[in-house]
Amino acid sequence: MKASTLRIGYRYRPNRLAEKYDAVVIGSGMGGLTTAAMLSDLGWKVCVLEQHYTAGGYTHSYERNGYEWDVGVHYIGDVGTKTRTRRMFDYLSDGKLEWAPMDEEYDRFYVGDKVFNAKAGKQQFRDNLVRQFPDEADAIEAYMALLESAGSAMSPVAMSRVLEPWQSTLMSPYLKWKTPNFLFRITYDVLAELTDNKELIAVICGQWGDMGLPPKQSTFMVHAMIARHYLYGGFYPIGGSWRIADSIIPKIQAAGGEVFTYASVEAILVNDGRATGVAMSDGHIIECPCVISSAGINNTFQKLLSAEVAEKAGYENKLKTVEPSFAHLGVYIGLTATAEELGLPKTNFWIYPDSDYDGAVEEFVEDDSRPFPVVYISFPSAKDPDYANRHPGTATIEIVAPAPYQWFAKWRDETWGKRGDEYDSFKAALGDRLMEHLYQKLPDLRGKVDYFEVSTPLSTNWFGGYQQGELYGLSHTPDRMQQKWLRPKTTIPGLWLTGQDILTCGVTGAMMAGMLTTTSIVGTRKIAPLMKRIYS
Ligand SMILES: Cc1cc2nc3c(=O)[nH]c(=O)nc-3n(C[C@H](O)[C@H](O)[C@H](O)COP(=O)(O)OP(=O)(O)OC[C@H]3O[C@@H](n4cnc5c(N)ncnc54)[C@H](O)[C@@H]3O)c2cc1C
Repeated sequence: MKASTLRIGYRYRPNRLAEKYDAVVIGSGMGGLTTAAMLSDLGWKVCVLEQHYTAGGYTHSYERNGYEWDVGVHYIGDVGTKTRTRRMFDYLSDGKLEWAPMDEEYDRFYVGDKVFNAKAGKQQFRDNLVRQFPDEADAIEAYMALLESAGSAMSPVAMSRVLEPWQSTLMSPYLKWKTPNFLFRITYDVLAELTDNKELIAVICGQWGDMGLPPKQSTFMVHAMIARHYLYGGFYPIGGSWRIADSIIPKIQAAGGEVFTYASVEAILVNDGRATGVAMSDGHIIECPCVISSAGINNTFQKLLSAEVAEKAGYENKLKTVEPSFAHLGVYIGLTATAEELGLPKTNFWIYPDSDYDGAVEEFVEDDSRPFPVVYISFPSAKDPDYANRHPGTATIEIVAPAPYQWFAKWRDETWGKRGDEYDSFKAALGDRLMEHLYQKLPDLRGKVDYFEVSTPLSTNWFGGYQQGELYGLSHTPDRMQQKWLRPKTTIPGLWLTGQDILTCGVTGAMMAGMLTTTSIVGTRKIAPLMKRIYS
Protein backbone atom coordinates (compact mmCIF):
# COMPACT_ATOMS: atom_id res chain seq x y z
CA MET A 1 0.00 0.00 0.00
CA LYS A 2 1.34 3.42 -0.93
CA ALA A 3 1.40 6.18 1.70
CA SER A 4 -0.84 9.17 1.09
CA THR A 5 0.50 12.11 -0.92
CA LEU A 6 -1.89 14.59 0.70
CA ARG A 7 0.48 16.32 3.08
CA ILE A 8 0.57 19.65 4.80
CA GLY A 9 3.19 21.14 7.10
CA TYR A 10 6.96 21.38 6.54
CA ARG A 11 9.18 18.32 6.79
CA TYR A 12 11.39 18.52 9.87
CA ARG A 13 15.15 18.72 9.57
CA PRO A 14 17.27 20.11 12.41
CA ASN A 15 18.78 22.69 10.04
CA ARG A 16 15.31 24.01 9.23
CA LEU A 17 14.70 25.08 12.82
CA ALA A 18 15.03 28.71 13.85
CA GLU A 19 17.70 29.54 16.39
CA LYS A 20 15.20 30.33 19.10
CA TYR A 21 11.50 29.79 19.73
CA ASP A 22 9.24 31.29 22.37
CA ALA A 23 7.25 28.08 22.62
CA VAL A 24 7.41 24.51 21.39
CA VAL A 25 4.13 22.66 20.84
CA ILE A 26 4.10 18.85 20.71
CA GLY A 27 1.38 17.68 18.30
CA SER A 28 -0.39 19.53 15.50
CA GLY A 29 -3.98 18.51 16.29
CA MET A 30 -6.66 21.13 16.86
CA GLY A 31 -5.51 21.75 20.43
CA GLY A 32 -1.88 22.30 19.48
CA LEU A 33 -2.62 24.41 16.41
CA THR A 34 -5.11 26.64 18.25
CA THR A 35 -2.62 27.33 21.03
CA ALA A 36 0.19 27.94 18.53
CA ALA A 37 -1.94 30.25 16.38
CA MET A 38 -3.17 32.34 19.32
CA LEU A 39 0.32 32.69 20.78
CA SER A 40 1.61 33.62 17.33
CA ASP A 41 -0.98 36.35 17.11
CA LEU A 42 0.35 37.66 20.41
CA GLY A 43 3.81 37.90 18.89
CA TRP A 44 5.28 34.55 19.95
CA LYS A 45 7.45 32.53 17.62
CA VAL A 46 6.12 28.98 17.92
CA CYS A 47 7.53 25.67 16.74
CA VAL A 48 4.91 22.93 16.30
CA LEU A 49 6.33 19.41 16.18
CA GLU A 50 4.21 16.68 14.61
CA GLN A 51 5.37 13.07 14.46
CA HIS A 52 3.08 12.13 11.54
CA TYR A 53 3.90 12.83 7.88
CA THR A 54 1.11 15.39 7.71
CA ALA A 55 -0.18 18.05 10.10
CA GLY A 56 -3.62 18.26 11.70
CA GLY A 57 -3.78 15.30 14.10
CA TYR A 58 -7.27 13.81 13.94
CA THR A 59 -8.28 16.55 11.50
CA HIS A 60 -5.92 15.25 8.83
CA SER A 61 -7.16 13.59 5.65
CA TYR A 62 -5.44 11.04 3.47
CA GLU A 63 -5.59 10.10 -0.16
CA ARG A 64 -5.17 6.73 -1.86
CA ASN A 65 -6.15 5.29 -5.24
CA GLY A 66 -7.69 8.61 -6.27
CA TYR A 67 -9.94 8.88 -3.19
CA GLU A 68 -9.68 11.11 -0.16
CA TRP A 69 -10.93 10.38 3.37
CA ASP A 70 -10.98 12.14 6.73
CA VAL A 71 -9.83 10.19 9.76
CA GLY A 72 -11.39 12.10 12.66
CA VAL A 73 -13.93 14.64 11.43
CA HIS A 74 -17.37 13.80 10.11
CA TYR A 75 -19.40 16.79 11.18
CA ILE A 76 -19.05 19.87 13.29
CA GLY A 77 -21.92 21.75 14.93
CA ASP A 78 -22.59 25.32 15.90
CA VAL A 79 -20.97 26.94 12.86
CA GLY A 80 -24.06 27.87 10.82
CA THR A 81 -24.29 31.38 12.29
CA LYS A 82 -21.84 33.69 14.07
CA THR A 83 -21.69 31.60 17.24
CA ARG A 84 -18.67 31.57 19.57
CA THR A 85 -17.49 28.39 17.86
CA ARG A 86 -17.83 29.86 14.39
CA ARG A 87 -16.08 33.09 15.36
CA MET A 88 -13.17 31.10 16.72
CA PHE A 89 -12.85 29.08 13.49
CA ASP A 90 -13.13 32.30 11.45
CA TYR A 91 -10.43 33.91 13.55
CA LEU A 92 -8.02 30.95 13.37
CA SER A 93 -8.45 30.53 9.62
CA ASP A 94 -8.73 34.23 8.79
CA GLY A 95 -12.17 33.46 7.43
CA LYS A 96 -10.78 30.96 4.91
CA LEU A 97 -12.49 27.92 6.36
CA GLU A 98 -15.97 27.54 4.91
CA TRP A 99 -18.76 25.27 6.01
CA ALA A 100 -21.41 23.31 4.12
CA PRO A 101 -24.61 22.37 5.95
CA MET A 102 -25.65 18.72 6.02
CA ASP A 103 -29.24 17.60 5.38
CA GLU A 104 -31.89 18.93 7.75
CA GLU A 105 -31.97 15.40 9.19
CA TYR A 106 -28.28 15.32 10.02
CA ASP A 107 -28.26 12.14 12.17
CA ARG A 108 -30.37 9.03 11.56
CA PHE A 109 -30.66 6.40 14.29
CA TYR A 110 -31.54 2.83 13.35
CA VAL A 111 -32.54 1.28 16.68
CA GLY A 112 -33.33 -2.38 15.99
CA ASP A 113 -35.94 -2.24 13.23
CA LYS A 114 -37.07 1.32 13.98
CA VAL A 115 -35.73 4.53 12.44
CA PHE A 116 -35.51 7.94 14.11
CA ASN A 117 -33.96 11.21 12.99
CA ALA A 118 -32.39 14.23 14.62
CA LYS A 119 -33.57 17.43 12.95
CA ALA A 120 -31.64 20.70 12.74
CA GLY A 121 -33.00 23.59 14.80
CA LYS A 122 -33.83 23.63 18.50
CA GLN A 123 -37.60 23.85 18.04
CA GLN A 124 -37.53 21.44 15.09
CA PHE A 125 -35.46 18.98 17.13
CA ARG A 126 -37.93 19.16 20.01
CA ASP A 127 -41.03 18.99 17.76
CA ASN A 128 -39.60 16.07 15.84
CA LEU A 129 -38.92 14.16 19.07
CA VAL A 130 -42.48 14.87 20.27
CA ARG A 131 -43.84 13.69 16.90
CA GLN A 132 -41.90 10.44 17.30
CA PHE A 133 -42.89 10.06 20.99
CA PRO A 134 -46.26 11.85 21.37
CA ASP A 135 -46.86 10.48 24.89
CA GLU A 136 -43.52 11.80 26.11
CA ALA A 137 -43.97 15.51 25.47
CA ASP A 138 -43.40 16.42 29.14
CA ALA A 139 -40.22 14.36 29.40
CA ILE A 140 -38.92 15.89 26.17
CA GLU A 141 -39.70 19.38 27.46
CA ALA A 142 -37.84 18.60 30.69
CA TYR A 143 -34.90 17.23 28.72
CA MET A 144 -34.68 20.38 26.60
CA ALA A 145 -34.70 22.44 29.81
CA LEU A 146 -31.82 20.35 31.20
CA LEU A 147 -29.82 20.96 28.03
CA GLU A 148 -30.41 24.67 28.47
CA SER A 149 -29.18 24.80 32.05
CA ALA A 150 -26.24 22.50 31.26
CA GLY A 151 -25.34 24.95 28.48
CA SER A 152 -25.06 27.91 30.80
CA ALA A 153 -22.79 25.92 33.13
CA MET A 154 -20.26 24.96 30.43
CA SER A 155 -18.29 28.22 30.33
CA PRO A 156 -17.76 28.49 34.11
CA VAL A 157 -16.69 24.82 34.21
CA ALA A 158 -14.23 25.41 31.38
CA MET A 159 -12.89 28.66 32.81
CA SER A 160 -12.36 27.04 36.22
CA ARG A 161 -9.55 25.07 34.54
CA VAL A 162 -7.42 28.19 34.22
CA LEU A 163 -7.87 29.46 37.77
CA GLU A 164 -4.99 29.41 40.22
CA PRO A 165 -5.78 27.41 43.39
CA TRP A 166 -6.36 30.60 45.43
CA GLN A 167 -8.70 31.92 42.73
CA SER A 168 -10.56 28.59 42.73
CA THR A 169 -11.11 28.88 46.47
CA LEU A 170 -12.38 32.43 46.07
CA MET A 171 -14.64 31.49 43.15
CA SER A 172 -15.83 28.24 44.67
CA PRO A 173 -19.30 29.44 45.84
CA TYR A 174 -19.96 30.99 42.42
CA LEU A 175 -18.80 27.86 40.58
CA LYS A 176 -20.90 25.64 42.81
CA TRP A 177 -23.93 27.83 42.20
CA LYS A 178 -23.31 27.70 38.43
CA THR A 179 -22.80 23.93 38.35
CA PRO A 180 -26.10 22.06 38.56
CA ASN A 181 -25.71 18.75 40.39
CA PHE A 182 -26.90 16.68 37.42
CA LEU A 183 -23.91 17.84 35.35
CA PHE A 184 -21.50 15.17 36.56
CA ARG A 185 -24.04 12.37 36.94
CA ILE A 186 -24.36 9.34 34.68
CA THR A 187 -26.33 10.27 31.54
CA TYR A 188 -28.71 7.32 31.79
CA ASP A 189 -29.55 8.05 35.44
CA VAL A 190 -30.46 11.65 34.66
CA LEU A 191 -32.65 10.63 31.72
CA ALA A 192 -34.30 7.73 33.59
CA GLU A 193 -35.68 10.32 36.04
CA LEU A 194 -37.48 12.01 33.14
CA THR A 195 -38.95 8.96 31.44
CA ASP A 196 -39.05 5.17 31.56
CA ASN A 197 -39.40 4.96 27.80
CA LYS A 198 -36.22 3.09 26.85
CA GLU A 199 -36.63 3.86 23.18
CA LEU A 200 -36.81 7.60 23.84
CA ILE A 201 -33.68 7.40 25.99
CA ALA A 202 -31.99 5.47 23.18
CA VAL A 203 -32.87 8.15 20.62
CA ILE A 204 -31.73 10.95 22.94
CA CYS A 205 -28.44 9.06 23.40
CA GLY A 206 -28.16 8.14 19.72
CA GLN A 207 -24.95 10.17 19.38
CA TRP A 208 -23.09 8.33 22.17
CA GLY A 209 -20.42 7.38 19.68
CA ASP A 210 -19.44 11.06 19.50
CA MET A 211 -17.82 10.70 22.92
CA GLY A 212 -17.19 6.94 22.96
CA LEU A 213 -19.15 5.97 26.07
CA PRO A 214 -22.64 4.47 26.20
CA PRO A 215 -25.26 6.20 28.43
CA LYS A 216 -24.79 4.07 31.55
CA GLN A 217 -21.13 5.09 31.70
CA SER A 218 -21.01 8.60 30.29
CA THR A 219 -21.24 11.97 32.02
CA PHE A 220 -24.40 13.98 31.43
CA MET A 221 -22.32 17.12 30.95
CA VAL A 222 -20.57 15.67 27.92
CA HIS A 223 -23.83 14.22 26.58
CA ALA A 224 -25.44 17.68 26.88
CA MET A 225 -22.47 19.41 25.33
CA ILE A 226 -22.63 17.17 22.25
CA ALA A 227 -26.43 17.35 21.95
CA ARG A 228 -26.26 21.16 22.12
CA HIS A 229 -23.33 21.29 19.72
CA TYR A 230 -25.40 19.66 16.97
CA LEU A 231 -28.78 21.16 17.89
CA TYR A 232 -28.68 23.48 14.89
CA GLY A 233 -27.44 20.78 12.55
CA GLY A 234 -24.18 19.35 11.28
CA PHE A 235 -21.67 21.10 9.01
CA TYR A 236 -18.73 19.90 6.97
CA PRO A 237 -15.51 21.86 6.26
CA ILE A 238 -15.58 22.60 2.53
CA GLY A 239 -12.55 21.06 0.83
CA GLY A 240 -12.15 18.28 3.42
CA SER A 241 -11.11 18.21 7.06
CA TRP A 242 -7.42 18.75 6.17
CA ARG A 243 -8.44 22.32 5.27
CA ILE A 244 -8.78 23.02 9.00
CA ALA A 245 -5.03 22.76 9.68
CA ASP A 246 -4.17 24.09 6.24
CA SER A 247 -6.05 27.31 6.94
CA ILE A 248 -4.57 27.80 10.45
CA ILE A 249 -0.88 27.19 9.70
CA PRO A 250 -0.28 30.57 7.92
CA LYS A 251 -1.07 32.39 11.19
CA ILE A 252 1.76 30.51 12.89
CA GLN A 253 4.14 31.11 9.99
CA ALA A 254 3.30 34.84 9.87
CA ALA A 255 4.91 35.27 13.29
CA GLY A 256 8.05 33.37 12.26
CA GLY A 257 6.92 29.99 13.56
CA GLU A 258 6.51 26.71 11.69
CA VAL A 259 4.61 23.42 11.78
CA PHE A 260 7.05 20.57 11.25
CA THR A 261 6.01 17.06 10.24
CA TYR A 262 8.06 13.84 10.67
CA ALA A 263 9.07 15.60 13.91
CA SER A 264 8.75 13.02 16.64
CA VAL A 265 9.46 14.23 20.16
CA GLU A 266 11.21 11.60 22.22
CA ALA A 267 11.24 13.37 25.59
CA ILE A 268 10.33 16.56 27.37
CA LEU A 269 13.46 17.85 29.08
CA VAL A 270 13.19 18.83 32.72
CA ASN A 271 16.09 20.40 34.55
CA ASP A 272 15.96 21.54 38.17
CA GLY A 273 12.23 20.89 38.11
CA ARG A 274 11.54 23.13 35.08
CA ALA A 275 10.75 22.20 31.48
CA THR A 276 13.64 23.38 29.36
CA GLY A 277 12.88 21.97 25.92
CA VAL A 278 12.43 18.72 24.04
CA ALA A 279 14.64 15.94 22.72
CA MET A 280 13.73 14.80 19.22
CA SER A 281 13.83 11.14 18.18
CA ASP A 282 16.87 11.92 15.99
CA GLY A 283 18.69 13.06 19.12
CA HIS A 284 18.44 16.77 18.35
CA ILE A 285 17.63 19.02 21.31
CA ILE A 286 15.36 22.03 21.01
CA GLU A 287 15.79 24.28 24.00
CA CYS A 288 12.79 26.35 24.95
CA PRO A 289 11.41 27.64 28.27
CA CYS A 290 7.80 27.00 27.24
CA VAL A 291 6.77 23.47 26.21
CA ILE A 292 3.12 22.78 25.40
CA SER A 293 2.06 19.18 25.05
CA SER A 294 -0.95 18.42 22.88
CA ALA A 295 0.06 14.77 22.57
CA GLY A 296 -2.42 13.56 25.21
CA ILE A 297 -2.12 12.94 28.94
CA ASN A 298 -0.86 9.36 28.67
CA ASN A 299 1.82 10.21 26.14
CA THR A 300 2.92 13.26 28.09
CA PHE A 301 3.23 11.66 31.52
CA GLN A 302 4.00 8.05 30.64
CA LYS A 303 6.19 8.43 27.58
CA LEU A 304 7.61 11.91 27.15
CA LEU A 305 8.46 12.48 30.82
CA SER A 306 10.47 10.00 32.81
CA ALA A 307 8.61 8.03 35.50
CA GLU A 308 10.77 9.73 38.09
CA VAL A 309 9.86 13.25 36.93
CA ALA A 310 6.15 12.37 36.61
CA GLU A 311 6.15 10.93 40.11
CA LYS A 312 8.06 13.85 41.61
CA ALA A 313 5.62 16.26 39.99
CA GLY A 314 2.74 14.39 41.62
CA TYR A 315 1.21 12.80 38.52
CA GLU A 316 1.75 9.11 39.26
CA ASN A 317 -1.36 8.77 41.42
CA LYS A 318 -3.38 11.22 39.38
CA LEU A 319 -2.91 9.05 36.30
CA LYS A 320 -4.69 6.23 38.11
CA THR A 321 -7.91 8.28 38.06
CA VAL A 322 -8.20 8.24 34.27
CA GLU A 323 -8.30 5.60 31.57
CA PRO A 324 -8.06 5.56 27.79
CA SER A 325 -11.25 5.88 25.75
CA PHE A 326 -12.47 3.10 23.49
CA ALA A 327 -10.58 2.25 20.30
CA HIS A 328 -12.15 1.89 16.87
CA LEU A 329 -12.21 0.29 13.43
CA GLY A 330 -12.50 2.48 10.36
CA VAL A 331 -13.57 1.45 6.86
CA TYR A 332 -12.61 3.82 4.05
CA ILE A 333 -14.61 3.18 0.89
CA GLY A 334 -14.23 4.48 -2.68
CA LEU A 335 -16.81 4.29 -5.47
CA THR A 336 -16.49 5.18 -9.16
CA ALA A 337 -19.62 7.35 -9.39
CA THR A 338 -20.47 10.64 -7.76
CA ALA A 339 -22.40 10.98 -4.51
CA GLU A 340 -25.20 12.55 -6.51
CA GLU A 341 -25.33 9.68 -9.01
CA LEU A 342 -25.35 7.18 -6.15
CA GLY A 343 -27.95 9.15 -4.18
CA LEU A 344 -25.77 9.31 -1.06
CA PRO A 345 -27.27 11.39 1.77
CA LYS A 346 -25.72 14.22 3.80
CA THR A 347 -26.96 12.37 6.87
CA ASN A 348 -24.93 10.24 9.28
CA PHE A 349 -26.28 6.76 9.98
CA TRP A 350 -26.04 5.30 13.51
CA ILE A 351 -26.98 1.62 13.49
CA TYR A 352 -27.81 -0.13 16.79
CA PRO A 353 -28.90 -3.75 17.34
CA ASP A 354 -31.50 -2.55 19.89
CA SER A 355 -32.09 0.15 22.51
CA ASP A 356 -29.83 -1.43 25.17
CA TYR A 357 -26.62 0.32 24.12
CA ASP A 358 -24.64 -0.59 27.24
CA GLY A 359 -25.65 -4.24 27.10
CA ALA A 360 -24.58 -4.46 23.46
CA VAL A 361 -21.15 -2.97 24.25
CA GLU A 362 -20.60 -5.40 27.12
CA GLU A 363 -21.48 -8.42 24.99
CA PHE A 364 -19.33 -7.32 22.08
CA VAL A 365 -16.23 -6.68 24.18
CA GLU A 366 -16.52 -10.21 25.56
CA ASP A 367 -17.18 -11.88 22.23
CA ASP A 368 -16.24 -10.43 18.84
CA SER A 369 -18.83 -12.58 17.06
CA ARG A 370 -21.64 -10.59 18.77
CA PRO A 371 -23.21 -7.75 16.75
CA PHE A 372 -21.33 -4.46 16.64
CA PRO A 373 -22.91 -2.32 19.40
CA VAL A 374 -22.89 0.67 17.06
CA VAL A 375 -22.00 1.13 13.42
CA TYR A 376 -21.59 4.70 12.22
CA ILE A 377 -21.71 5.49 8.51
CA SER A 378 -20.77 8.86 7.04
CA PHE A 379 -20.81 10.13 3.46
CA PRO A 380 -18.04 12.76 3.23
CA SER A 381 -18.06 13.32 -0.53
CA ALA A 382 -21.82 13.98 -0.37
CA LYS A 383 -21.26 16.58 2.37
CA ASP A 384 -18.41 18.36 0.62
CA PRO A 385 -19.49 20.58 -2.32
CA ASP A 386 -15.83 20.75 -3.41
CA TYR A 387 -15.14 17.00 -3.47
CA ALA A 388 -16.13 16.60 -7.13
CA ASN A 389 -13.56 19.26 -8.13
CA ARG A 390 -10.75 17.37 -6.44
CA HIS A 391 -11.81 13.83 -7.30
CA PRO A 392 -14.23 13.98 -10.23
CA GLY A 393 -16.51 11.03 -10.92
CA THR A 394 -15.94 9.42 -7.52
CA ALA A 395 -17.55 9.19 -4.10
CA THR A 396 -16.43 8.13 -0.64
CA ILE A 397 -18.03 6.57 2.42
CA GLU A 398 -16.57 6.03 5.89
CA ILE A 399 -17.63 3.54 8.55
CA VAL A 400 -16.59 3.70 12.20
CA ALA A 401 -17.25 1.05 14.86
CA PRO A 402 -15.78 0.35 18.28
CA ALA A 403 -13.19 -2.38 18.79
CA PRO A 404 -11.08 -3.02 21.89
CA TYR A 405 -7.36 -2.37 21.52
CA GLN A 406 -6.63 -5.68 23.30
CA TRP A 407 -7.93 -7.66 20.32
CA PHE A 408 -5.01 -6.26 18.31
CA ALA A 409 -2.34 -5.80 20.98
CA LYS A 410 -0.33 -8.87 19.96
CA TRP A 411 0.58 -7.18 16.66
CA ARG A 412 1.53 -3.85 18.26
CA ASP A 413 5.23 -4.13 17.50
CA GLU A 414 4.75 -4.96 13.83
CA THR A 415 5.17 -2.37 11.06
CA TRP A 416 2.15 -0.73 9.39
CA GLY A 417 1.17 -2.63 6.24
CA LYS A 418 3.29 -5.66 7.26
CA ARG A 419 1.49 -7.16 10.22
CA GLY A 420 1.03 -10.55 8.62
CA ASP A 421 -1.74 -12.81 7.34
CA GLU A 422 -3.46 -13.48 10.66
CA TYR A 423 -3.86 -9.76 11.35
CA ASP A 424 -4.94 -9.08 7.77
CA SER A 425 -7.61 -11.75 7.77
CA PHE A 426 -8.92 -10.78 11.23
CA LYS A 427 -9.37 -7.17 10.19
CA ALA A 428 -10.73 -8.16 6.74
CA ALA A 429 -13.44 -10.27 8.41
CA LEU A 430 -14.41 -7.35 10.66
CA GLY A 431 -14.35 -5.03 7.64
CA ASP A 432 -16.62 -7.36 5.63
CA ARG A 433 -19.11 -7.43 8.48
CA LEU A 434 -19.15 -3.63 8.57
CA MET A 435 -19.63 -3.47 4.79
CA GLU A 436 -22.72 -5.69 5.16
CA HIS A 437 -24.24 -3.00 7.41
CA LEU A 438 -23.75 -0.50 4.60
CA TYR A 439 -25.33 -2.81 2.02
CA GLN A 440 -28.27 -3.52 4.30
CA LYS A 441 -29.07 0.18 4.49
CA LEU A 442 -28.18 1.06 0.89
CA PRO A 443 -28.58 -2.19 -1.15
CA ASP A 444 -28.03 -0.40 -4.47
CA LEU A 445 -24.37 0.07 -3.55
CA ARG A 446 -23.68 -3.67 -3.74
CA GLY A 447 -21.35 -4.27 -6.67
CA LYS A 448 -20.49 -0.57 -6.99
CA VAL A 449 -17.65 -0.39 -4.46
CA ASP A 450 -14.32 0.00 -6.22
CA TYR A 451 -12.03 0.00 -3.20
CA PHE A 452 -12.07 -0.22 0.57
CA GLU A 453 -9.55 -0.56 3.36
CA VAL A 454 -9.86 -1.13 7.07
CA SER A 455 -8.04 0.61 9.90
CA THR A 456 -7.69 -0.84 13.41
CA PRO A 457 -6.67 0.59 16.80
CA LEU A 458 -3.08 -0.15 15.71
CA SER A 459 -3.49 2.33 12.84
CA THR A 460 -4.54 4.99 15.38
CA ASN A 461 -1.47 4.11 17.39
CA TRP A 462 0.81 4.21 14.35
CA PHE A 463 -0.42 7.46 12.82
CA GLY A 464 -1.73 9.38 15.85
CA GLY A 465 0.59 8.15 18.57
CA TYR A 466 -2.26 7.06 20.88
CA GLN A 467 -0.75 4.21 22.89
CA GLN A 468 -3.95 2.16 23.07
CA GLY A 469 -5.48 3.47 19.85
CA GLU A 470 -7.78 5.71 21.90
CA LEU A 471 -10.55 7.21 19.80
CA TYR A 472 -11.07 10.26 22.02
CA GLY A 473 -8.05 10.45 24.34
CA LEU A 474 -9.16 9.89 27.93
CA SER A 475 -12.48 8.22 28.63
CA HIS A 476 -15.23 10.77 29.44
CA THR A 477 -16.45 9.24 32.70
CA PRO A 478 -17.91 11.43 35.50
CA ASP A 479 -14.71 10.78 37.43
CA ARG A 480 -12.47 12.05 34.67
CA MET A 481 -14.61 15.11 34.06
CA GLN A 482 -14.11 16.19 37.67
CA GLN A 483 -10.33 15.82 37.77
CA LYS A 484 -9.07 19.30 38.55
CA TRP A 485 -5.50 18.42 37.53
CA LEU A 486 -6.63 18.03 33.90
CA ARG A 487 -5.87 21.66 33.19
CA PRO A 488 -3.39 23.62 31.05
CA LYS A 489 -0.98 24.43 33.83
CA THR A 490 1.09 21.53 35.14
CA THR A 491 3.04 21.33 38.39
CA ILE A 492 6.22 21.46 36.28
CA PRO A 493 6.97 25.13 35.54
CA GLY A 494 7.29 25.74 31.81
CA LEU A 495 5.19 22.69 30.85
CA TRP A 496 1.62 23.21 29.71
CA LEU A 497 -1.08 20.88 28.41
CA THR A 498 -3.70 21.32 25.75
CA GLY A 499 -6.02 19.31 23.48
CA GLN A 500 -8.98 17.04 24.08
CA ASP A 501 -7.70 15.58 27.37
CA ILE A 502 -7.94 18.81 29.32
CA LEU A 503 -11.54 19.61 28.38
CA THR A 504 -13.51 17.26 26.12
CA CYS A 505 -13.09 15.47 22.82
CA GLY A 506 -14.31 16.91 19.53
CA VAL A 507 -12.63 19.38 17.22
CA THR A 508 -14.39 22.21 19.05
CA GLY A 509 -13.47 20.73 22.47
CA ALA A 510 -9.80 20.63 21.46
CA MET A 511 -10.03 24.14 19.98
CA MET A 512 -11.52 25.52 23.20
CA ALA A 513 -8.78 23.72 25.14
CA GLY A 514 -6.27 25.60 22.97
CA MET A 515 -7.95 28.85 23.90
CA LEU A 516 -7.81 27.94 27.61
CA THR A 517 -4.14 26.98 27.39
CA THR A 518 -3.24 30.26 25.71
CA THR A 519 -5.18 32.13 28.41
CA SER A 520 -3.39 30.18 31.10
CA ILE A 521 0.05 30.89 29.62
CA VAL A 522 -0.27 34.61 28.93
CA GLY A 523 -2.83 35.49 31.63
CA THR A 524 -6.31 36.96 31.36
CA ARG A 525 -5.09 40.56 31.09
CA LYS A 526 -2.97 39.89 28.01
CA ILE A 527 -5.53 37.65 26.31
CA ALA A 528 -8.42 40.07 26.83
CA PRO A 529 -7.79 42.32 23.79
CA LEU A 530 -7.39 39.26 21.55
CA MET A 531 -10.62 37.71 22.84
CA LYS A 532 -12.34 41.03 22.27
CA ARG A 533 -11.10 41.04 18.68
CA ILE A 534 -12.28 37.46 18.13
CA TYR A 535 -15.71 37.92 19.64
CA SER A 536 -16.57 41.52 18.77
C1 LIG B 1 -12.92 8.26 14.03
C2 LIG B 1 -13.09 9.61 14.67
C3 LIG B 1 -14.15 10.40 14.32
C4 LIG B 1 -14.32 11.66 14.87
N1 LIG B 1 -15.34 12.44 14.45
C5 LIG B 1 -15.46 13.70 14.91
C6 LIG B 1 -16.43 14.58 14.37
O1 LIG B 1 -17.18 14.22 13.47
N2 LIG B 1 -16.52 15.83 14.88
C7 LIG B 1 -15.70 16.27 15.89
O2 LIG B 1 -15.81 17.43 16.32
N3 LIG B 1 -14.76 15.45 16.41
C8 LIG B 1 -14.61 14.19 15.94
N4 LIG B 1 -13.64 13.37 16.44
C9 LIG B 1 -12.82 13.82 17.58
C10 LIG B 1 -11.81 14.88 17.21
O3 LIG B 1 -11.22 14.60 15.97
C11 LIG B 1 -10.75 14.95 18.30
O4 LIG B 1 -11.35 15.01 19.57
C12 LIG B 1 -9.82 16.18 18.17
O5 LIG B 1 -9.47 16.41 16.84
C13 LIG B 1 -8.59 15.97 19.05
O6 LIG B 1 -7.68 17.03 18.88
P1 LIG B 1 -6.35 17.08 19.74
O7 LIG B 1 -5.56 18.24 19.27
O8 LIG B 1 -6.67 17.00 21.17
O9 LIG B 1 -5.60 15.70 19.43
P2 LIG B 1 -5.02 15.09 18.08
O10 LIG B 1 -5.76 15.61 16.91
O11 LIG B 1 -4.98 13.63 18.26
O12 LIG B 1 -3.54 15.66 18.01
C14 LIG B 1 -2.48 15.14 18.78
C15 LIG B 1 -1.25 15.10 17.88
O13 LIG B 1 -0.10 14.82 18.65
C16 LIG B 1 0.79 14.11 17.81
N5 LIG B 1 1.80 13.47 18.66
C17 LIG B 1 1.61 12.50 19.60
N6 LIG B 1 2.78 12.17 20.16
C18 LIG B 1 3.74 12.95 19.57
C19 LIG B 1 5.15 13.05 19.72
N7 LIG B 1 5.82 12.30 20.60
N8 LIG B 1 5.81 13.93 18.93
C20 LIG B 1 5.16 14.71 18.04
N9 LIG B 1 3.82 14.64 17.86
C21 LIG B 1 3.12 13.77 18.62
C22 LIG B 1 -0.11 13.12 17.12
O14 LIG B 1 0.47 12.57 15.97
C23 LIG B 1 -1.32 14.00 16.81
O15 LIG B 1 -1.21 14.59 15.54
C24 LIG B 1 -13.42 12.11 15.87
C25 LIG B 1 -12.32 11.32 16.23
C26 LIG B 1 -12.14 10.09 15.62
C27 LIG B 1 -10.94 9.28 15.98
